[in-house]
Amino acid sequence: MKLLITGGAGFIGSNFIRHILKKYPEYEITNLDNLSYAGNLMNLKDIESNSNYNFQKGDICDPKILDELAKAADIIVNFAAESHVDRSIQDASGFIQTNVVGTQVLLEAAKKYKTKLFLQISTDEVYGSVVEGFSKEADSLEPNSPYSASKAAADLLVRSYHITHGLPTVTTRSSNNFGPYQYPEKIIPLFITNLLEGKKVPVYGDGMNIRDWIYVLDNCEAIDFVLHRGKVGEIYNIASGDLLSNIELTKKLLDVMGKTESMITYVKDRPGHDKRYSLDTSKLFQLGWQPQYNFAEALEDTIRWYESHIDWWRDIKQKRKDFQDYYTKQYS
Ligand code: NAD
Repeated sequence: MKLLITGGAGFIGSNFIRHILKKYPEYEITNLDNLSYAGNLMNLKDIESNSNYNFQKGDICDPKILDELAKAADIIVNFAAESHVDRSIQDASGFIQTNVVGTQVLLEAAKKYKTKLFLQISTDEVYGSVVEGFSKEADSLEPNSPYSASKAAADLLVRSYHITHGLPTVTTRSSNNFGPYQYPEKIIPLFITNLLEGKKVPVYGDGMNIRDWIYVLDNCEAIDFVLHRGKVGEIYNIASGDLLSNIELTKKLLDVMGKTESMITYVKDRPGHDKRYSLDTSKLFQLGWQPQYNFAEALEDTIRWYESHIDWWRDIKQKRKDFQDYYTKQYS
């Protein structure tokens, strides 16, 4: 099986590539990534010499590169995206380019070369805020940030290529991921690394925004599951059902890291900040998938990983001086 994985140098993509090469050593993977600020080849250092792994630097918006790569692939898994909500509020143009135009260019290549499966990696944020209850796959899309709007647009393009052109597609919509190799602008790695540096952690607004958390390795297993057993044309929500407000999450991190609440600083809320995401995962559960990781244990493992990979995140934080603001006051 030949997989073209886009955005594989990022957080979830790199965990997914490692997962696939370990579980299916005979699969061949090409990782197409333009190494944006969030892409990091250090995330894949341990597998770079694997003979079934090949890295190609390039942009998913470039049809020429895709012509060659899509021709050689059985399956395309599209992780490539601009993924940080705060950045999309500052400037949405890159989000439209990669998340919308890039997905369309990829779909076109998949159509041309009759790709056996196009797997689109989407997000729970496309449903918008759900004050109570759970979002189901058939619910209307009500994205509230430019990021989630660009992801929703991509989902609709995927649907259209399936309906109009008969392209075999599957879409996954997962909740918030956490785990190793997450860029330290997102809430969990930002807070862990700030605390390791002796800095305070910035909580948006009153901290009552609720997110549904999933350990990245559970998401990778779920994507793998859907890739092999999902029904063509379908969308699958992926979550573990671990709902926490940001302040509850912050207090858990402080507790495990032996810090007091004096390390919290409340900052001005993000505009359009969704109050709550929560997914109904019964469709995926009925297919036979279940999460394997316990939230508290996975959170502790994640803290230990950042404690033991200081060079990895310190390097990123130091290099990205132009984004220092994100490290101190903003996150997703
Ligand atoms: P990330 O920002 O860590 O990684 C994105 C990767 O895509 C990077 O390696 C980057 O270099 C690459 N990339 C960006 N633009 C590109 C382009 N034009 N061409 C080629 N490569 C490009 O993101 P992530 O957190 O790993 O998210 C991966 C996917 O999962 C995204 O599609 C995101 O929307 C989705 N998702 C993420 C979460 C989460 O909690 N992180 C939750 C649900 C869904």
